[in-house]
Amino acid sequence: MRLILLGPPGAGKGTQAKILVEAYGIPQLSTGDILRSAIAAKTPLGLEAKAIVDRGDLVSDAIVNGIVSERLDAEDCKPGFILDGFPRTIAQAEALDLMLVEKGVKLDAVIEIKADADVLVERVINRAKESGGARADDNEEVLRKRLNVYQEQTAPLVAYYTDEGLLRAVDGMEPVEQVTAAIKAAIEG
Ligand code: AMP
Repeated sequence: MRLILLGPPGAGKGTQAKILVEAYGIPQLSTGDILRSAIAAKTPLGLEAKAIVDRGDLVSDAIVNGIVSERLDAEDCKPGFILDGFPRTIAQAEALDLMLVEKGVKLDAVIEIKADADVLVERVINRAKESGGARADDNEEVLRKRLNVYQEQTAPLVAYYTDEGLLRAVDGMEPVEQVTAAIKAAIEG
């Protein structure tokens, strides 16, 4: 099973990916997690990516394409994978299509987890109020930035994968279990 989870930040891609890992026995491939690990370990990649990730912008296509191509060659990706947070631009989607042709494999589905941007921001503001402090405001600002980046650069992938006949949309505002059920139905149905 080869899947892409598409959706704005905070929609639940990571949560659903972890559940699907258990259900299908295939790895989650999160470019955000890989970048965060590199940043924490202060590797050359991490040092290059830190400021970009911190302000909510996208790391260059060349960097993330390289990360994904290498990761897809690992043995654990042979039976399949769940891409979480990649692709995020049309150029990344095109690069992925090429990689998959080269590796001789095909995507099964692209799951769009739909979520209302206003509700996502509201959740973060409420969390900020509960915890208090200035840092939470920074988070809200960065989240708004990431939502804008999503609208401008990632949302066009919905049309891209609709054209490829791969897109399945689910309502990400439902409870976690219901979203999982909808994803499984979209994949298996
Ligand atoms: P995520 O955990 O998927 O929300 O990613 C966190 C941050 O990592 C993003 O805001 C970007 O700065 C960076 N990032 C993750 N995946 C990508 C990608 N496919 N292309 C560019 N930047 C990415």
